Amino acid sequence: MSTYSTEQLRALDKRHVWHPFTQMQDWERDDQIVIEKGEGCWLVDTEGRRYLDGVASMWTNVHGHCRAELNEALKVQVDRLEHSTLLGLASEQSILLAARLAEITPPGLDRFFYSDNGSTAMEVAVKMAYQYQAHNGRPERSRFITFRNAYHGDTLGAVSVGGIDIYHATFKPLMFETIQAPSPYCYRCEQGCADPALCGMKCLDALEALIVQHGAFCAGVVIEPLLQGAGGMIVQPPGFLGRVRELCNRYDLLMIADEVATGFGRTGRMFACQHEEVVPDIMAISKGIAAGYLPLAATVATEKVYAAFLGEYAALKTFFHGHTFTGNPLACAVALKSLDLFESDNLLVELQPKIAFMKDRLEQFRTMEHVGDVRQCGMAAGIELVEDKTARRAYPWEHKLGVKVCLEARKHGIFSRPLGNTVVIYPPLAISLAELEFLLDGLQRSIEAVTET
Ligand SMILES: *Cc1c(COP(=O)(O)O)cnc(C)c1O
Repeated sequence: MSTYSTEQLRALDKRHVWHPFTQMQDWERDDQIVIEKGEGCWLVDTEGRRYLDGVASMWTNVHGHCRAELNEALKVQVDRLEHSTLLGLASEQSILLAARLAEITPPGLDRFFYSDNGSTAMEVAVKMAYQYQAHNGRPERSRFITFRNAYHGDTLGAVSVGGIDIYHATFKPLMFETIQAPSPYCYRCEQGCADPALCGMKCLDALEALIVQHGAFCAGVVIEPLLQGAGGMIVQPPGFLGRVRELCNRYDLLMIADEVATGFGRTGRMFACQHEEVVPDIMAISKGIAAGYLPLAATVATEKVYAAFLGEYAALKTFFHGHTFTGNPLACAVALKSLDLFESDNLLVELQPKIAFMKDRLEQFRTMEHVGDVRQCGMAAGIELVEDKTARRAYPWEHKLGVKVCLEARKHGIFSRPLGNTVVIYPPLAISLAELEFLLDGLQRSIEAVTET
């Protein structure tokens, strides 16, 4: 129990904590929830109120909060070694984790470069891809092909390869330029297509045209496989990812897959790339890697990429990049235990009926007056609210419809966080069917309350 009252904590928070992606003027005006405990898929605040964690604590939580086995693994490790560096030293947990991950990542992705969050994993990927090209005698290949609505993190390199204007436009003068391909956003298709089954994915023709024009100066294509998460839970049509891989092969570009959100079971398979048997050249993983316990990330490379960095010291082929807390043993120990739980809980198999239930239950949202589109990818979904359903006219973003729905959902015991006008469903993978039903019921009632009154 905290020795501080909720009021004291709130006051100190408002005085000293600058919250991410938050207009602090609004934040300071309202009474905020202060979380004290986690139990399974629930968060408990300082007043003892319980909220179902509908966004898996920013898309990280896998097995629920405070899972006994994970807590134990962390306690055991902290009594052995809390941290030592990977600069000049190896350490047991980081070795075992890399070897274990190599067994489950797509074949050929065997070289693990650790960092601590999704943005750094992508920052590493971008630098690695460029340096790879330079080592192969093609230093002019310094640009990247990216997608509109892409999100790869908030550090400057990651922002540069991103494509969400509301987050990224401010920093344009600080960013490097990229070649931006259309987002595979079928509901608001830039090519004016209505159905990916009929159009043959024209957006890929646009991508190929850009590659033909700019490819000789590009290091690679950067993509969130299957699902553009932060862009609004935009789900790619089946086959899209595989065709991007083919294009990368045909034009000799590296394929950089950002599995920061999709990795570790979210899509129903361990990694999204596995749905289309795609092996990227470089893959970034983070969010779910340590089950939502600790910051950890890795940029995974194939042997081909790794080998390009080998040479005499004086040849300057070293990858000069590294973070202080790289390969932290506490985080790696939890990540290893999490992979044990994937097996002992039969988690990926147990997910399938939950994914099917969600698909079924989401159909009821489609008929709602202000639901324009419903998109699902495994255990992730987005419900896009529109002011006018026939015209697909969006609510003005300043009306904060998504935020209003999430505030309403709190009354139903749900914590959620929207992406603009898109309501997000992204619970811990360990959620039970009954809890999932509770989440979907509560969100539907909240959407009704906000949009139909
Ligand atoms: C969250 C996210 C990132 C950034 O991860 P951070 O840990 O927040 O830096 C990068 N890529 C994708 C696809 C993400 O969803």
